[in-house]
Amino acid sequence: MVKICCIGAGYVGGPTMAVIAFKCPSIEVAVVDISVPRITAWNSDKLPIYEPGLDEVVKKCRGKNLFFCNELEKHVAVADIVFVSVNTPTKSSGLGAGKAADLTYWESAARMIADVSKSSKIVVEKSTVPVKTAEAIEKILTHNSKGIEFQVLSNPEFLAEGTAITDLVNPDRVLIGGREETPGGLKAIQTLKDVYAHWVPQERIICTNLWSAELSKLAANAFLAQRISSVNSISALCEATGANVYQVSSAVGKDSRIGSKFLDASVGFGGSCFQKDILNLVYICECNGLPEVANYWKQVIKINDYQKSRFVSRLVSSMFNTVSGKKIGILGFSFKKDTGDTRETPATDVCRGLLSDKAQLIIYDPQVPEAQMIKDLSTPKFDWDQPGSTIHIAEDVVKQSVKVVHDAYEATKDAHAIWLGDLVVMGTKRAFEEDLQEFIKHPKHLD
Ligand code: NAD
Repeated sequence: MVKICCIGAGYVGGPTMAVIAFKCPSIEVAVVDISVPRITAWNSDKLPIYEPGLDEVVKKCRGKNLFFCNELEKHVAVADIVFVSVNTPTKSSGLGAGKAADLTYWESAARMIADVSKSSKIVVEKSTVPVKTAEAIEKILTHNSKGIEFQVLSNPEFLAEGTAITDLVNPDRVLIGGREETPGGLKAIQTLKDVYAHWVPQERIICTNLWSAELSKLAANAFLAQRISSVNSISALCEATGANVYQVSSAVGKDSRIGSKFLDASVGFGGSCFQKDILNLVYICECNGLPEVANYWKQVIKINDYQKSRFVSRLVSSMFNTVSGKKIGILGFSFKKDTGDTRETPATDVCRGLLSDKAQLIIYDPQVPEAQMIKDLSTPKFDWDQPGSTIHIAEDVVKQSVKVVHDAYEATKDAHAIWLGDLVVMGTKRAFEEDLQEFIKHPKHLD
């Protein structure tokens, strides 16, 4: 039986390994993590992350060929393939702070693999990493390996939160980068291909060199975010000229060369990946002497920040230029529908902007615990564009000004304004829209 171990039981490691276990009954999959609460949750009825379809897949395989545990070394030692899916956040201090990827977690995972391995292994980069990371990992592994052979592959993950299970079961493509020029590299690529071939059609499995695979992931996220910033920049022009951004994006998206996906104007993109990966791309460009290319990609994030602050300004100015003491209902706090993930959610920036003008917020999001919202809103925000500067709303101010409710209607009761964040998630949209119409017809407090 082939043995797989995945280091990192997060939004990527958990669902990805659950689908591998589900599709490959002949493979034993162990998902390991340093976090005890996370592993405890994976072994319970309340999984640590919300994803449609995830519960069913995990319940079918857990205890049969899918295991979640904290015994990292034991499972890494016996695995044939070790996926590493640890977090790679933006560095908050030191060289490259605010842009470069923090590879601390990756480095410690690589050192542990080298220390505990007693047999040859394929080590797979599942995390999103800067191009050329595999070179550094190879150095760590071979330096500590006591003669054991390691093959490093890049197999970036393209799933989107909220649709992770369908994306994994039916991926647009699976990308495997390896040392195609060596027999060992080719064999490793084939071994990983054989795993995916259990359910992914051959033509969707793309094999490239290591650097192309690593860079493709950063480029894909940059392109997706760029489309959002492009349409949002047009939304600003629409508002200034009387054009309607929905009409414009619909007309633009009908061009088959452009397509309609990712062309909805919004308050901006969020999530743990887009901003982090573009900043990483910017840093790599700067390090490679390409400042013009770096500036091009920086602009995608600048427009995203501009859109969020523009939204807050418009809301405040439409309410007699102040929201002080006014109640604002926020429907949806996570960064998109069908997830409870609040990392880099635009809701934090919008709420912070409103709180700094002394608004009273009533927030509803059934997937996000109250403690998480309070923590997000009171955690100082590091400004990537102005190193050293932070935006901070004190925890006691957040606690006094934010009420978290468990019913969408309660969030709108007596509200002076309502922000329909990711309400569509909650399956109440239709009923709520009817009520909202009623609310609009009798605008008790609506400015
Ligand atoms: P996450 O924070 O949810 O999970 C990472 C996990 O790794 C955590 O549970 C953490 O405890 C664990 N960890 C850290 N260091 C460890 C170590 N040394 N040993 C064992 N466990 C360790 O992160 P995520 O969202 O799953 O993202 C993981 C990677 O995948 C990142 O590089 C991210 O950019 C990339 N990615 C994320 C998404 C997404 O939608 N979240 C999509 C594609 C790619």
